[in-house]
Amino acid sequence: MQTRFDLTQADIPQSWYNLLADFPEPLPPPLHPATRQPVPPEALEAIFPKNLVHQEMCPDRYVEIPGPVRDIYALWRPTPLMRAVRFEKALQTPAHIYYKYEGVSPAGSHKVNTSVAQAFFNKEAGTKRLATETGAGQWGASLAMACKLFGLACNVYMVKVSYQQKPYRRMLMHTWGATVHPSPSDQTEYGRKLLAEDPHCPGSLGIAISEAIEDTIKTPNTKYSLGSVLNHVCLHQTVIGQETIRQMELAGEEPDTIFGCCGGGSNFAGLVFPFIQKKIKEGKKYRIIGVEPSACPSLTKGELRYDFGDTAETTPLLMMYTLGHKFIPPSIHAGGLRYHGMAPMVSHALKLGLIEAEAYHQTRVFESATLWAQTEGIVPAPESAHAIAAVAEHAVKAREAGRKTVLLFNLSGHGLLDLSSYETFMTGKLQDV
Ligand SMILES: *Cc1c(COP(=O)(O)O)cnc(C)c1O
Repeated sequence: MQTRFDLTQADIPQSWYNLLADFPEPLPPPLHPATRQPVPPEALEAIFPKNLVHQEMCPDRYVEIPGPVRDIYALWRPTPLMRAVRFEKALQTPAHIYYKYEGVSPAGSHKVNTSVAQAFFNKEAGTKRLATETGAGQWGASLAMACKLFGLACNVYMVKVSYQQKPYRRMLMHTWGATVHPSPSDQTEYGRKLLAEDPHCPGSLGIAISEAIEDTIKTPNTKYSLGSVLNHVCLHQTVIGQETIRQMELAGEEPDTIFGCCGGGSNFAGLVFPFIQKKIKEGKKYRIIGVEPSACPSLTKGELRYDFGDTAETTPLLMMYTLGHKFIPPSIHAGGLRYHGMAPMVSHALKLGLIEAEAYHQTRVFESATLWAQTEGIVPAPESAHAIAAVAEHAVKAREAGRKTVLLFNLSGHGLLDLSSYETFMTGKLQDV
């Protein structure tokens, strides 16, 4: 039986798909916090290059992928679509379970789909250096690789607890030539203020974003780069869903339900936005489900309102499902799913009823992840494992109902640098919050 559905290098998409062009209602714009008026593009150019600001607000349905970006994508794209027959069998489910595997990239996750694009457009715009933040290090590593490939310097603020507890991704960033600071750091005024108040401050993603933005504004030839949440990041990730649509055709099936884990929302957006287009344009009836941790439940328990993207209140206000920009999530192990908000485009899709959301507890997530590793071989990233837990839940429901159904999800990355959280789970030390 065929269980792997491959495309060739020539099938790497020629353009990114922009859901902004097809939303039945326009996305509320980012607002200036003082005036509460829409932020003019020029204001965003203080931290982003003009070409990416254009993509952020772009009305075009398709944005061409530049040749040099496609050439780098070819190092790992197209990524495989697989059918998880052994996992199906273990669950004794009549469901067919398909997964798109983004863990084959050099950094081990989907994040390089946008880091390579962002480094390219910054290089084109004359940027010499990028500043960014990273939680567990997946984004910092992805941007470090992309910067090195395009000859840019890369300065990363890494949440201090992760800097201390997760040395391997820090080493990966160093291997790719980046400079890494534990955040809060002594590099910025905001960091020094926080350190004066509490020298042992463990840091948070919101704090690290504030530091990276301050660095950007104060350092010549520097721009800021974000690995999730923003429209242009979701845009770049749509290579995932476009490839998947063709691969599901090769498999001769259509998904009934589509899943992705949600931190800032970008890998989920990347898989599902091209399918949402088919819902809107072709009247397809897919159920599309964003899966988040119960410990950081912005989609299922958050409020839809304008909020800041960072703790120091330096970003524009974004309309999104949020737990509040001062929310510091409990230190669950799925480091990449700890953001207080959700991508405005994903939030808008939920508001319009185009998607749904579910939340799962950590122990359930690691049980599913372990069953996955023991049946399909791949050790999933703890973030991706949230999607696996949801898929398992729906597969078991299908068994109980005796109903054949086709489930599809994005396996956003591998967990080979997250084995310490597997150990925490296996030794019974993981707690649900
Ligand atoms: C960062 C990360 C996520 C969460 O980020 P999104 O923007 O929600 O995709 C999910 N999976 C992996 C493997 C990650 O590295």
